[in-house]
Amino acid sequence: MTATPPAAPASKTVYIETVGCQMNVLDSELVIGALKRDGYTLTDDSSSADLMLFNTCSVREHAEDKTFSALGRVAPFKLANPDKVIGVIGCMAQKDGDAIRDRAPYVDLVVGTGQLAKIPELVSIIRATRAPQLAVSLGRKDGDRQQVEMSFESYDPTRDPEMRSTPFQAYVRIQIGCDKFCTYCVVPSTRGPEQSRHPDSILNEVKILVDQGCKEVTLIGQTVNSYVYDHGDGRKTRFSELILRIHDVAGLKRIKFVTNFPKDMTNDLLDAVRDLPKVVKYLHVPLQSGCNDVLSRMKRLYTVEEYWEMLHRSRERIPGVAVSSDFIVGFCGESDASFQKSMDIVDRAKFKNSFIFKYSERPGTKAAERYADDVPDAVKKQRNHDLLMLQNERSLEDSRAMIGQAVEVLVEGPSRQGAKSAPGGIRQLIGRTMTDHIAVFDGPDRLVGEILTVDIAEASGFTLYGAARTGEVIGGDGAAPSRLPRRMGLSLV
Ligand code: SAM
Ligand code: SF4
Repeated sequence: MTATPPAAPASKTVYIETVGCQMNVLDSELVIGALKRDGYTLTDDSSSADLMLFNTCSVREHAEDKTFSALGRVAPFKLANPDKVIGVIGCMAQKDGDAIRDRAPYVDLVVGTGQLAKIPELVSIIRATRAPQLAVSLGRKDGDRQQVEMSFESYDPTRDPEMRSTPFQAYVRIQIGCDKFCTYCVVPSTRGPEQSRHPDSILNEVKILVDQGCKEVTLIGQTVNSYVYDHGDGRKTRFSELILRIHDVAGLKRIKFVTNFPKDMTNDLLDAVRDLPKVVKYLHVPLQSGCNDVLSRMKRLYTVEEYWEMLHRSRERIPGVAVSSDFIVGFCGESDASFQKSMDIVDRAKFKNSFIFKYSERPGTKAAERYADDVPDAVKKQRNHDLLMLQNERSLEDSRAMIGQAVEVLVEGPSRQGAKSAPGGIRQLIGRTMTDHIAVFDGPDRLVGEILTVDIAEASGFTLYGAARTGEVIGGDGAAPSRLPRRMGLSLV
């Protein structure tokens, strides 16, 4: 008689919710990778998960409120099952530390952005002892620069491809932290000092990703174009040189990078973007305000005139480049006249799009210490609306200028509308152009992950509509795309 082998222990499950920027998306990928190696499987059922993680953002108060209300929702799960481990990780954890447990005492684990590699070990300790665990890095003034830098570790190579939204696209962190200290911003505290990664380590990661089937990498850093690696022997690797080395990786098709700091937009970088065919012709360069007084209170380190110079130089050196921006409205002391200057610049700058935020005072920042948050919320809301409406009009013009063009698109998957149809047939797919525009067109699922040409026939505010050139008849009846989707966003006038 053969003995029945003992049943394998049921694997533990982890559920994760991520808010915030690309950095957080990548961090979640890394954390899940590490937990899977520790025996966890990912679940989207929060009620039954053995471990629940909230990867958090502190940039605006609203993001923190969202996390606390999510924590409120899971409190009953913890009451019902005291063995469930609940963790708050990322920026809020670094910023508030143990104070998070004052509002949510059932949180077992608090881990800052620079300590994420410790999560599997800390969770094991909680399971064994039920004692809450805290791991955060040093504050910016808690040691000398080297000590603070060392307390923020980055562990990018240990990532999990399954966490990515597509297997052929990946973020690669080339820099952690930020040293710009814009007065409104928590990031220099929550992510620590600016540190550029060794180019060999970045290159190695890109090669691994390409071996796993990745076609497009997005290089990320808070001010990605400030990247410079000091080898310590007199040699330095600049961002343009790093891009050149990444460009040489066989099998890689596209390179993107975000976010740029206006003052660090050097000509060697612009020329690299122009000359290297794999590099996307798109620059996200936040201006934040069209008024010099506001920029100065924000300590953005440039004037509106210098931003215009950078914008003209970028467009001159990279013909056809798309540029997008971020704006904060209602910053301390922003008068109607100052706000009008942001309107004027959006009116004239031809941004592809802009991300617009209402100023949110962040405790601990220089702006919170120095200036009154004196623009009423109703005014912030109105300015946000007005700037967005103006940008939407400009975005529509930008999109319509592409009607009639043939653009190269990396196909990302079914569009929201396409996802409603069954897989296998012809459905609406979505992709990004080399200028980061969104294009939708009809096609079979096997085009997903491919780079192909799309003839643009129509445009809405942020979306181009067209027909894919596949060398075959799409839709089976010889007609152009079976149904040109309804226009979204602003109506055409
Ligand atoms: N490092 C990037 C840069 O310098 O542009 C962006 C980082 S930040 C996470 C993304 C955007 O959030 C910023 O460009 C800014 O517009 C906005 N932001 C940052 N702090 C803010 C605050 N306190 N209130 C409102 N928006 C804020
Ligand atoms: Fe924040 Fe300014 Fe650094 Fe961007 S550059 S992360 S806005 S401090």
